[in-house]
Amino acid sequence: MPIPRMFTYRIPSSLSEQIKIGSRVIVQFGKKKVLTGIIGKVHSKAPQAYDAKPLLDVLDDTPSVNPLQIRFWVWMAEYYCCHIGEVMLAALPSGLRLSSESKVQLNPNFNPEESPYPLDEREIKILDAFENSSELSYEDCEKILGIKTIHPILKSLVTKEAILIFERVQDKYSPKVETRIRIHPNIAKDKKALEAVFENISGKAKQESILLKYLRDVPVFNNPQLNEKGLDKASLLEEGDSESSLKTLIKNGVFESYKQVVNRIDETAVTAGKIVLSEKQGIALSEIKNHFNSFQATLLHGITGSGKTEIYIQLIKEVLDSGSQVLMLLPEIALTTQIVSRLKQVFGGQMGVYHSKYSDNERVEVWNGVISGRFPFVVGVRSSIFLPFDSLGLIIVDEEHESSYKQFDPAPRFHARDAAVMLSYFHQAKTLLGSATPSFESYHNATEGGKYGLVELPERYGKANLPEFHLADLAGDKRKNLLKVDTTRLMRERIQEALDRQEQVLIFQNRRGYSPYIQCEDCGWTGQCIQCDVSLTYHQFSEELRCHYCGYKEKVPPACPACGSSQLATMGMGTERIEESLSLLFPEARIGRMDLDTTRNKYGYQKLLDEFGAGHLDILVGTQMITKGLDFGNVTVVGIWDGDRILNFPDFRSGERAYQQITQVAGRAGRRETKGNVIVQTRRPDEAIYQQVIKGDYFEFYRQELHERKKFYYPPFVKLIKITTRNSDYKTAEKAAMALHQYMAGIAVKKIVLGPEKAMIGRIKNQYQFESIIKLDRSGSSQSEFKQKLGEIIIQLNGKPEFRSVRFVVDVDPN
Ligand code: ADP
Ligand code: ZN
Ligand code: ZN
Repeated sequence: MPIPRMFTYRIPSSLSEQIKIGSRVIVQFGKKKVLTGIIGKVHSKAPQAYDAKPLLDVLDDTPSVNPLQIRFWVWMAEYYCCHIGEVMLAALPSGLRLSSESKVQLNPNFNPEESPYPLDEREIKILDAFENSSELSYEDCEKILGIKTIHPILKSLVTKEAILIFERVQDKYSPKVETRIRIHPNIAKDKKALEAVFENISGKAKQESILLKYLRDVPVFNNPQLNEKGLDKASLLEEGDSESSLKTLIKNGVFESYKQVVNRIDETAVTAGKIVLSEKQGIALSEIKNHFNSFQATLLHGITGSGKTEIYIQLIKEVLDSGSQVLMLLPEIALTTQIVSRLKQVFGGQMGVYHSKYSDNERVEVWNGVISGRFPFVVGVRSSIFLPFDSLGLIIVDEEHESSYKQFDPAPRFHARDAAVMLSYFHQAKTLLGSATPSFESYHNATEGGKYGLVELPERYGKANLPEFHLADLAGDKRKNLLKVDTTRLMRERIQEALDRQEQVLIFQNRRGYSPYIQCEDCGWTGQCIQCDVSLTYHQFSEELRCHYCGYKEKVPPACPACGSSQLATMGMGTERIEESLSLLFPEARIGRMDLDTTRNKYGYQKLLDEFGAGHLDILVGTQMITKGLDFGNVTVVGIWDGDRILNFPDFRSGERAYQQITQVAGRAGRRETKGNVIVQTRRPDEAIYQQVIKGDYFEFYRQELHERKKFYYPPFVKLIKITTRNSDYKTAEKAAMALHQYMAGIAVKKIVLGPEKAMIGRIKNQYQFESIIKLDRSGSSQSEFKQKLGEIIIQLNGKPEFRSVRFVVDVDPN
């Protein structure tokens, strides 16, 4: 519950034996609600303001949450100005929360005949109810049994692994099912019958080819037992094989198809070739270890392709050998599957993966695996900092500059890198931050700040060199009439050369802040969202206009709704358009596209990467997704379609971001022996930042930018807090934002307050929003003092009848 204080309950004597800090308990909250709580403290002071109700039940024999976690939650709530209940909600997978909002489903792995636990009558009644529906609510269960306290029965069924608990539809567990194909058992056992089949289909080339392929992979003639496991359908049907021939074979009883639940957490450890660190890498590793003697955190600034991953692996091994746990954070795991499989090769079954696309119940598996010791090492996205580690020795934050480490909505609005440093402090562990383009905050901490150790790795591994940069002048080519479907001559030539040598090309287009939209060429009309102050984004695939803030959508109108003209044009260069242009210029090339549209499907991203890695594609066009951690040896040309798009962002971090973005994309080129080339198309080739990126002198760039930051009071010299005031009524929102300012003026710490101003997007989901920015001193106690007062002010303001429905959203260290 998003409430400021912890709540006190009475311990009935029947439960007193089971009470432990960190255990989950069932409590009543308000008149009717039943919730899961965590025991934070055991004491004997009765609350003054209310009569403590008795605990209803204890869910755990051993606590689900350890004392370090509770300490971490308390810190997070204070630092990020939110309630501890909100932190708990973010931290605890819903499969570990039983409440009156819970829904239950049958555990797909449950088999009543094989279960070692006897079920009582009431439990069987609940399980029987799943015959008619795939999920039951808490209330449904109460009704089925005609009783009021259902949780002891649900608790028992969970313990017996018969049911799973979830809250939101998307958290429901859906097992991964594979369609498998095998030769019909009657035929497989009988050589003669199999030969007869061959005769029957002789001349039907497509069917023959499928059968042969099957027998090649599953040599049934030699060993009929192999047939039992069959082949999964996807690997049986190769490119060019026809699905309908397979259907015919199934219909005629040659093959049979069946479904099988497969394990999503892949346990197999693949043994990998042993890697020996290079001399430079070895030195970096020992420098890191040296720094760990005097600093709690160290920044590894290693250029792209310098082999940071190999250094991490070495360090992880050592820490695991010493008996401590390791957590490695990655920006968004779906985007870095190459790293995960590299780590899997080394660490196999002792490595848990905490994926943002996993269902909640799969997360419960990882959670329990950390407690049981099955996973001493976890690789995960930002929310994996909430896992129940009890003896961390090391946290690695890879690509620490990544902005996706910051949680934007809902609270807690934490930055996983900063929280990780704090978490490792609680564990007396070490933190290693790694990046080719460190964030200014971390670089500052590692240099003048004197808080972190700094290790530099300025060379690529092996024979690989950094790629060469070329600026391609869009405006110049246009004047000289050299522009063809938005490409400069230089871009065309370099791509052609790579294609001629059978090398691969990546083309990058920045997505941030730009999306394709539809505009009337006659009157200038553009589609606007009816609930937000934003233009609707054009989706060619579905012929729709969609709002990326609230999800509102409509069909593309056949003519301009304002003037009736049929001249509706697509504006804003999206990846689709680039793909089209490239296929006009290079009709022979096989081109793939990677963006939100083509990777919406859970495995879409992986599939595209596999195709590209296997050399089935020559050119891959993509947005931010293609920049992260990709390591393909055959990529020699990287094209940045519109460099200026990366520069134009109205934000104090725009320079830092542009430098990072261009360097990271460029870092995908020439990662082996062949030299890489990077072509940046721009209308402003004289822009200083291009020269700085080309020189690759991060320190010089940082120094110059830092000067500006200092002059205008921006991080890392101050701490920022952003407060957004929201209401469905414009006047109320404005008035509340003004009132907030008056109150804040009374807080006696040194600060700068900017605003309130109408937010850049003035209305989202029919809520008007105003923003204020507060700049605070980094040192001293002013931060915690300010945050505490701010919390009190918000409670006071929300207590006024006119502002009861106003929301004040506090974002500490906004992105
Ligand atoms: P980074 O993460 O710094 O961009 P990687 O760790 O991905 O760099 O290394 C770049 C490439 O060089 C990878 O293909 C990696 O396997 C290879 N590599 C790095 N160090 C070594 C080493 N010591 N021995 C063999 N290959 C290495
Ligand atoms: Zn019009
Ligand atoms: Zn909208």
